[in-house]
Amino acid sequence: AGHRRTDLRELLDSTLTMLKRKIGPDVTVKTDYDPSLPPVPVFAAELNQVWTNMIVNALQAMGGAGTLTIRTSRENDHAVVEIGDTGPGIPAENLDRIFTPFFTTKAVGEGTGLGLDISWRVVVGRHGGDIRVASLPGDTRFRVLLPLTER
Ligand code: ADP
Ligand code: MG
Repeated sequence: AGHRRTDLRELLDSTLTMLKRKIGPDVTVKTDYDPSLPPVPVFAAELNQVWTNMIVNALQAMGGAGTLTIRTSRENDHAVVEIGDTGPGIPAENLDRIFTPFFTTKAVGEGTGLGLDISWRVVVGRHGGDIRVASLPGDTRFRVLLPLTER
């Protein structure tokens, strides 16, 4: 209840439009939306916070130059949103901690360390989905899985 079937492409594009001023001239944005992905039952306003945080994280990691990739696809009974960047990546020893509240590697004022904590609660707690991270130098990907059917 409270979910509304939503086109993920519209959500992601509106987040990108909102963040336009933060995307510098040396950042290339690539989008690749699966046209066969059906509308997904989501809490749209909450998911917009997730995309916003992940995209801002990606932009900050790239420090003004690189490629931001946003992709949707379908995997069995889940929609998948992948947000990728070409920044330096997340050191292996931090991977376990990035979803912990207040964990941040950013300077005071640049990050609160709450973005991924909130993202986890929205995606996993509210939607019954999952977040997976794969990170190598130059290739970091956050994959958000959302169930296609309401539980
Ligand atoms: P904040 O952005 O306020 O630091 P987050 O919860 O959004 O808090 O992220 C926690 C930490 O995870 C960041 O400080 C950073 O160290 C790491 N991180 C998240 N996304 C990325 C990314 N795309 N590239 C490199 N590091 C990342
Ligand atoms: Mg953040």
